[in-house]
Amino acid sequence: MKLYNSLTRKIEDFSPLNTEMVTMYACGPTVYDHAHIGNFRTYTLSDLIYRTLLFNDHRVKFIMNLTDVGHLTGDNLGDADTGEDRMEKSSAKEGKSAIEIANYYIKRFMQDYEKMNFLKPEKFTRATEYIEEQIKLVKILEEKGFTYTTTDGVYFDTSKFESYGQLSGYTVENVMEGARVEANPEKKNPTDFALWKFSPIGVKRSQEWPSPWGTGFPGWHLECSAMSLTELGNTIDIHVGGEDLRMVHHQNEIAQSECATGKKFVRYWVHGAHMMVDGGRMGKSLGNAYTLTDIEKKGFDPMALRYFFMTSHYRSKLNFTWEGLQSAQNALKKLYELARSYSRDPSAKVSKDFIKKFGEKINDDLNMPEALAVVWEMIKAEVGEPEKLATLLKMDTVLGLRMEENLALETPQKVIDMAKTRAEYRRAGIWDKADQARKQLMDMGYEIEDLPDGKFKLKRKI
Ligand code: AMP
Ligand code: ZN
Repeated sequence: MKLYNSLTRKIEDFSPLNTEMVTMYACGPTVYDHAHIGNFRTYTLSDLIYRTLLFNDHRVKFIMNLTDVGHLTGDNLGDADTGEDRMEKSSAKEGKSAIEIANYYIKRFMQDYEKMNFLKPEKFTRATEYIEEQIKLVKILEEKGFTYTTTDGVYFDTSKFESYGQLSGYTVENVMEGARVEANPEKKNPTDFALWKFSPIGVKRSQEWPSPWGTGFPGWHLECSAMSLTELGNTIDIHVGGEDLRMVHHQNEIAQSECATGKKFVRYWVHGAHMMVDGGRMGKSLGNAYTLTDIEKKGFDPMALRYFFMTSHYRSKLNFTWEGLQSAQNALKKLYELARSYSRDPSAKVSKDFIKKFGEKINDDLNMPEALAVVWEMIKAEVGEPEKLATLLKMDTVLGLRMEENLALETPQKVIDMAKTRAEYRRAGIWDKADQARKQLMDMGYEIEDLPDGKFKLKRKI
């Protein structure tokens, strides 16, 4: 498998440190609000890497975190240590405790995660469940002389870490200080960042913990280092996140982790380009984001979104449009229909040639648009239908488009009953009731086509 490594800025051959088990970490959501479909582009990336590794017969230990404290609003302005804690802000806005907010949005996230057909990681780690590990990490850094304390927290001194800036080129020297945020006068270097922040004097935060330096909460960057080191060890194979995390968050994760352990933190950094709307980034704090529920309400299947993501390469920005999503849904619907129409033979073998071709594309830095082209090429090729189906199902272990579920779909009895009731209303000329029944069928995911003599045909919407 070849992967573009953001650290070396090169496409490299991937080989795990330990051939027995690939270790992988993805920066998960900050759970103060619904995840939006832009976030799901990045999680589709981690899912595709995970699935491709499995396709290549690797065993994988995958961890995704849930940030439920310490992610401040200032990071949109280029400084993660300023502004309000997103959890606390949401807690004040919704009149609930930060834990209630976190629990609610985690539950919603898990529902969406399932809808997107993402393979579950070994663990979803919650930052607030790793406070002890985070404090321990700050202690180690303090003992090794990498920290200093200001009036608002314990900071990491980036000038003491020689290779600071390697990941993004954002270094102690070239940082455009004060370009977008007011510089913190107590910081020794503009790139320094908070490991532990103190609760403001006279303020009782919804979430705070005692520490050797004072009551407060962990810095957002520290959380990911502590969870990754605890769950996956000092050096991991792959770390995934959106491109916005590369400049500061991931660079700071490297600094803390490598200074604490003396070992390389991550071997392959993989960053996904953003999903855009009207030329700008889609972001929940920017107020231009759609949720999965928004697109479902408009009649789109989450699998159509997954297909839409795969029509572009993960390192290219992708502009969200309803037309684009519609074309993806049309293509997927066609694929489902074809798959359902194929004659079946459980003993059919996959087409080795097409699986090889498909494998080459996914292993070429996840070239999903070309992998999808191989799918369509196979559909059109002179291959027997049962073999086509077997090949499609094998490909779907990576595509994750729920091909097997789509095949297994029998029309449920209650849908048939509803359609029969509608036919009776039509026969009796009770049009409003017949209309109502049609709407109910639509809600159940079925379209009805009327045929002569009061007959009808039911079709799944996708
Ligand atoms: P957040 O919940 O803001 O911490 O973001 C969770 C993940 O989604 C991170 O990996 C971000 O880099 C990623 N992300 C945020 N906005 C977008 C976007 N518009 N397109 C793709 N990924 C995004
Ligand atoms: Zn992270």
